[in-house]
Amino acid sequence: MFKPNEDYLKLPGSYLFSTIAKKVAAFQESNPDKKIIRLGIGDVTKPLPKAVIEALHKAVDEQANAETFRGYAPDLGYEFLRHAIAENDFRARGCNIADDEVFISDGAKSDSGAIQEIFSKDAKIAVCDPVYPVYVDSNVMAGRCGDYDENTGMWSNVIYMPCTAENGFAPELPSETPDLIYLCFPNNPTGEAITKDQLQKWVDYANKVGAVIIFDAAYEAYISEDNIPHSIYECKGARTCAIELRSFSKNAGFTGLRLGATIIPHDLKVSFNGKEVEMHSLWARRHGTKYNGAPYIVQRAGEAIYSPEGKVQVKEMIASYMKNAKYIYDGLKEAGYTVYGGKNSPYIWLKTPDNMTSWEFFDYLLEKANVVGTPGSGFGPSGEHYFRLTAFGSYENTVEAINRIKAL
Ligand code: PLP
Repeated sequence: MFKPNEDYLKLPGSYLFSTIAKKVAAFQESNPDKKIIRLGIGDVTKPLPKAVIEALHKAVDEQANAETFRGYAPDLGYEFLRHAIAENDFRARGCNIADDEVFISDGAKSDSGAIQEIFSKDAKIAVCDPVYPVYVDSNVMAGRCGDYDENTGMWSNVIYMPCTAENGFAPELPSETPDLIYLCFPNNPTGEAITKDQLQKWVDYANKVGAVIIFDAAYEAYISEDNIPHSIYECKGARTCAIELRSFSKNAGFTGLRLGATIIPHDLKVSFNGKEVEMHSLWARRHGTKYNGAPYIVQRAGEAIYSPEGKVQVKEMIASYMKNAKYIYDGLKEAGYTVYGGKNSPYIWLKTPDNMTSWEFFDYLLEKANVVGTPGSGFGPSGEHYFRLTAFGSYENTVEAINRIKAL
């Protein structure tokens, strides 16, 4: 008889969003006249910027002619996009990243799940708690995390770094030394960011102990404050210890189109069997074997966000989501809630009132205000007694939802 991959069997079901959907459906069925507003979604709602649509149309037309038709894309991405990313997202910010250190992919979820493959099976991972679940689950699938404890919601072989109001949502350096450290700032779900000085401490630590930081910059476009780094390569020494993940989803609305990039500097290397090995070459080997490249038309669409018009349109889109974020943040504060995030990210993280659990507050908000959010405990044990609202809805719905909460 065949055998399944037992590491997959260890994974507990991912019940968060299905439980939310079931509760909302049941409430709507027994209250058909109520208008439910969803501020729990992590997906964007605005259409793609005009520059992106124009680039898509143009690239589609190219596919209609033998002279301009493109088949398989280069494994690591088209030069035009690798150059546009390296130039605009890194060199323009003073980060020394070469075009060939940029690998194009179909998004940060795929890359954040797959990056662990180029590290040893024995590598020990450290994650923030609460956390974007892909980092842990992909390492569980690879057999690195030990056993799951249903009571604590934790894996026996993972280093958890709590991020709560008590430490300003910034993880402290762990007492046990990890091999791989996953950091995501601005953070999902807390919406909080860390300063360049705080990130520099992590870079120095990783270089000192010989660990690698996987830095997820999916929300960098939402940064509004000057002292928050947009890339880990703004920190000195990051080229020898950090891999950065980039996404086109939340800045340019590519959640359905799919595009991302991973940066691996040539300086990230290790001595193995007497030879120097670049992690860049391992990822290139992995990409070449398992991936046939993001579609040409999508890479052209991605290039368009760096055109002068594209830059303006992307800025406008982010500004409109951030207008929602401000309305949520200010409105909740006015209503007496303790609120975090929302300044450098589209996520607002609030402390549940009266020591309610995250799920008790979910039910309260659904029943009393007909507003849906996401219980913080769904992102990890340290998310208990917190709740996430997102700025990705329409302005009208956002205003109505917050006014309903204020009226409670
Ligand atoms: N990383 C974080 C922290 C996210 O919150 C998300 C999506 O919600 C992703 C990565 C996924 O990005 P992509 O759409 O590029 O796969």
